[in-house]
Amino acid sequence: MQKLLIFGFLITTLVGCGSLSQIQSGQSVFSKDEQELILSGQLSEPMRILQINQPSDSLILRTQSLGFKVQADDMVLNYLADRMLVTLQNSKGVGIAAPQVGVLKRIIWVQRLDLENEPFEVYYNPEIKKYSDMKQDVREGCLSIPDYRGTTQDRAYAIFIEYDDRKGRHKCEMVEAFTAAIFQHEIDHLNGIMFIDHLIKERDASIQHKID
Ligand SMILES: [Zn+2]
Repeated sequence: MQKLLIFGFLITTLVGCGSLSQIQSGQSVFSKDEQELILSGQLSEPMRILQINQPSDSLILRTQSLGFKVQADDMVLNYLADRMLVTLQNSKGVGIAAPQVGVLKRIIWVQRLDLENEPFEVYYNPEIKKYSDMKQDVREGCLSIPDYRGTTQDRAYAIFIEYDDRKGRHKCEMVEAFTAAIFQHEIDHLNGIMFIDHLIKERDASIQHKID
């Protein structure tokens, strides 16, 4: 049954990669403040991870991030991507989004637990183009929410994504299972959404159901 559902999902997602929205034009992709933040530490030095319980951090975490045009030779972009990876690996997480280090750009790292050797990969301007109807329960935590875990029930089992890679090539791919949940969690961050918002939605829906 599961295979059939996923097959159906695949058939409906056999579409070409469209053009990305929200692309910023201009000389530098990063603001002056962002450049200072990115370049303020060594390449091997983890960046500070913003925390939801700090009011000024929370404001940034709740802000929509901007898309941008990828230049493969952009030194600041490459430096940020490398420092985000160091930050992620240092914290032993499976994913990180740029707003979590204070940069409001559409950049995420995901550990591809579905691929051989479970590599960490970076995605620029990732967008979820399609969600499977089939859901999965996911036990989630977040580097920006200290000491808290919860189970979300509204994550799609499979998603169809489009993104730009490090060289600026536009790509698309279908991702399934827990790795699909990591993508959904990280892309939520780019839209100012935290995983606890999903838990609140579920609680409110169950309260509504009881009232009905
Ligand atoms: Zn998170």
